[in-house]
Amino acid sequence: MRLVLLGPPGAGKGTQARMLETKLQTPQIASGDLLRTAVRNRTALGVQAQAFMDKGALVPDDLVLGMIEERLSQSDAQSGFILDGFPRTVAQAEVLGRILAQRHEKLDRVVAITVPDEEIVKRISGRRTCRSCGAMYHVIYEPPRTVNVCNSCGGELYQREDDAEQTVRARLQVYASSTKPLLDYYGRAGFLAEVGGIGRPEQIEHRILSALGIA
Ligand code: AMP
Repeated sequence: MRLVLLGPPGAGKGTQARMLETKLQTPQIASGDLLRTAVRNRTALGVQAQAFMDKGALVPDDLVLGMIEERLSQSDAQSGFILDGFPRTVAQAEVLGRILAQRHEKLDRVVAITVPDEEIVKRISGRRTCRSCGAMYHVIYEPPRTVNVCNSCGGELYQREDDAEQTVRARLQVYASSTKPLLDYYGRAGFLAEVGGIGRPEQIEHRILSALGIA
């Protein structure tokens, strides 16, 4: 299965991608996670990407595209993948199309998760991330067992710079202007299914599996 998950930040793409990864035995490839790992490891890519990420802007294509192409070339991504956070612009979607065409492959489906802006702001500003392993929590919806401590690795939880309310609003604007046009782009190509992103994660997973013809 070659799947793209679209949706604004905080729509639940990461949660759904991880659930689908287990169910479909297909790796999740999350551009934001790859970038955050690069930032944590202070690689040349990470150092350049960080300023864009902190203010909620898109990281330029010359940094993102090489990283994704490299990840897609790894052995676990040869028979399928769940892309989360990439592509984010029509230009990135065109590059993805070219990479797949070279492999004589194409996408199976693009699923867009839709959530109203005010709900997004509520969700993201309560989000906390583990500094060590990247696991995510929410102060109300999914609190850790001990305040500010990761259940999985004991690492410290923090609020990502780009999860602060003001930055979330900037990210929503970037989504509206740069990423939303992808709905038309993939809609015209006949790949798109839209699912509502309000509800329990299992309900949304069920909607996605139905859209994929699996549930
Ligand atoms: P995410 O975790 O997907 O919300 O991504 C966090 C941040 O990483 C975004 O706000 C962007 O700054 C950057 N980012 C992630 N994916 C991309 C992409 N495909 N193109 C450009 N920037 C990206």
